[in-house]
Amino acid sequence: MATIAAPAYTCPMHSDVHAAGPGKCPRCGMALLPEDTRFAFVRHMVSNPLHLAVMLALMAGLMAAAMMMMR
Ligand SMILES: [Zn+2]
Repeated sequence: MATIAAPAYTCPMHSDVHAAGPGKCPRCGMALLPEDTRFAFVRHMVSNPLHLAVMLALMAGLMAAAMMMMR
């Protein structure tokens, strides 16, 4: 599920809008963005509240670790 090769471009506002190449969203007119792994990851995280909680916990842990390194 992590690597879907088919539609490469999507609208930032409408995740259900897909296109094979660069263009504009038929609904809002925004430029379509490449559906790279980072974008898909964020969307995946936002799609599930549990993922958000896990991500927040991870970020808090990373921040704490970074603070320790600084000292
Ligand atoms: Zn749109």
